[in-house]
Amino acid sequence: MVNDADVVLEFQQVSKHYPGAEHPAVDEIDLVVRRGEFVTFLGPSGSGKTTSLNMIAGFVSPSSGRIVIDGSDICDLPPYRRNLGMVFQNYALFPHMTVWDNVAFPLVERKVPKAEIRRRVAAALELVHLGGLGKRYPRELSGGQQQRVALTRALVFDPPILLMDEPLGALDKKLRDTLQSEIRRVHRELGITFLFVTHDQEEAMALSDTVVVFERGAIQQIGAPDELYRRPRTRFVAEFLGESNLLDGHLERAGDTWLLRTADGAIPLDGWSAPRDVPPGGHCVLFRPEDVRITGPEDSAAVWRAEVREVVYLGSEERIVVSSESGVSLTVRTSGGTAPRRLRTGQTVGVRFVAQNAWLVPDGPVRSTTAPAAAPTS
Ligand code: ADP
Ligand code: MG
Repeated sequence: MVNDADVVLEFQQVSKHYPGAEHPAVDEIDLVVRRGEFVTFLGPSGSGKTTSLNMIAGFVSPSSGRIVIDGSDICDLPPYRRNLGMVFQNYALFPHMTVWDNVAFPLVERKVPKAEIRRRVAAALELVHLGGLGKRYPRELSGGQQQRVALTRALVFDPPILLMDEPLGALDKKLRDTLQSEIRRVHRELGITFLFVTHDQEEAMALSDTVVVFERGAIQQIGAPDELYRRPRTRFVAEFLGESNLLDGHLERAGDTWLLRTADGAIPLDGWSAPRDVPPGGHCVLFRPEDVRITGPEDSAAVWRAEVREVVYLGSEERIVVSSESGVSLTVRTSGGTAPRRLRTGQTVGVRFVAQNAWLVPDGPVRSTTAPAAAPTS
């Protein structure tokens, strides 16, 4: 059970039905966010992330349910009374104000004494290394600098929660990486709760303590990045985060171990810790690309044979796509020296699986595209 004092934000059965829309944008979601946590809403476009964030900010009101911050339902409070920081994708700075005045604005609005404003704005600009740019106007700044100003303005009044909606979406890859580390550092130094929205799974994994995966207005899974990667509860989560090899087959007991029967042959799962209940019927077992090994075609311990379709050199590792005899495509990642040298497309290889890392996807046999948009039961 969560200690109440640790909880900063709670969604209780929150829904949003926009007038005229066929499906709810957000469908009865429950969520608990702990103080100081870095939480990311991750999901494809249209899955309800922005609507959820805007209900916290107060720009959208829920159709039903409660949103609780520090123990009180805030749904009747206008945005400015919620005292939350907000950063949008488009910088939304005041163009006619200098950087300094932009950052000072929330403090002026709150009637903070002048000397205190000077002190806090200077400290906030220092925090994001913009100390020398106070006199500039937004148009005199790069996109990355503008977004740092927006971040500073959202933090300067010490809000309990900072909300960010795809704040790095308009920046190029290199700048995005730099700002990601900056945001992580600021989170560490300030220790306040960050709620971040992105459709980019790598960004979500790199930044967050906890990722909330959205699909069609429902939460599919909530967990730490490694938990979502290693133990996805749905096929959708397995496919949305990182690369996945989802093998359809039947799990069978074989003495004290298990066997996955597939169209391409049985895969012995020695050392696999099976869940307590393996349901009867078809199963879907996940192997991540680093859990598949390519060997020589004569390897007697190989469990499948396959043909190499693609080899991509990525510097420190290779990404190889092979196709099994029955036509199942597998993505393999090998770091220097774990695959036979000079793989060529068209070549026949053996395939082994790292059995301990197999993961039975609980909702596996149901394809997410045909599943109802309700949260899975655990
Ligand atoms: P995301 O941020 O994950 O891309 P949104 O929360 O913006 O998703 O949208 C969720 C769903 O609600 C989408 O189907 C979208 O078209 C719809 N939607 C968003 N805003 C509005 C609005 N103001 N009026 C009607 N429908 C909306
Ligand atoms: Mg959005």
